[in-house]
Amino acid sequence: MSTQSTIYRVGDASITRVTEQTFGIDAARLFPDFDPSAWRAHASWLVPDHAGPSLASAQLSVHTWVIRWDDRVILVDTGCGNGKDRPFGAIFHQLDTPYLERLAAAGVQPEDVDLVLITHLHVDHVGWNTRLVDGKWVPTFPNARYVFAAAERAYYETPAAANRMMVFEDSVLPVIEAGLADEIGDEGGVYLPGIRFIPTPGHCAGHMSIELSSGGERALFWGDVVHHPIQVTQPDWSSSFCADRTQASVSRRRIFDYAADHGARVFTSHFAGTSAGRIRRNTDGAFVWQFA
Ligand SMILES: [Zn+2]
Repeated sequence: MSTQSTIYRVGDASITRVTEQTFGIDAARLFPDFDPSAWRAHASWLVPDHAGPSLASAQLSVHTWVIRWDDRVILVDTGCGNGKDRPFGAIFHQLDTPYLERLAAAGVQPEDVDLVLITHLHVDHVGWNTRLVDGKWVPTFPNARYVFAAAERAYYETPAAANRMMVFEDSVLPVIEAGLADEIGDEGGVYLPGIRFIPTPGHCAGHMSIELSSGGERALFWGDVVHHPIQVTQPDWSSSFCADRTQASVSRRRIFDYAADHGARVFTSHFAGTSAGRIRRNTDGAFVWQFA
């Protein structure tokens, strides 16, 4: 977690990462289109931060980005949370991490948070929305507006969400019932001057990337459009967690173009080593990830 305290400047904003957990996952399981030779070709920069020493595993991280900007404290995505029943996934189930202590070490107390911006309502992006107090799930950040796509909330009204309803009930519904939620329409758009939601569907129907603009610079939080840096070299490798893998790769190429064209600093959701960087095009037009 050596990158935890790195502070990035984008215009007037300062941005830092607070990590909840890191883990390895079988690379061939993560990517249905996995090609071992394409993976091995990048071993020199993937190992050890982004791939295990034998190259069998892809290393991933779950974290929150903390933004201080314009007298506001803003969080982007909130990890898995502690003490939550997740029978569908051991890496999410009944965690007991010092996430709030790490947030405090970054200078943030829960009541300081003004905005919680959420790329999508999956288990590893909404967990710390709430915490257990006297047997009840209550908003962790009582003074914050929680902002997410209306389509993501609507997904939980469909039968497809049946085995994930517990995520909605313990991590999303309490903030809605507390009157703290703001929803973004399918077209995305400006939430506040300087903060914009960009539709990037595919990983899930209502997935949004989030852009912060300040002083002529852009910070792009692209969410789960990309899970691992190998996807910059293999833009058509969608993850096994993507609901519509074809649409996910369309959104991936689109956000790569956008990031490259605008020189955005990109803040990723799951890169295990340095999680921030930029997208460049090399001379033959292929995308290249540059850690920063
Ligand atoms: Zn995720």
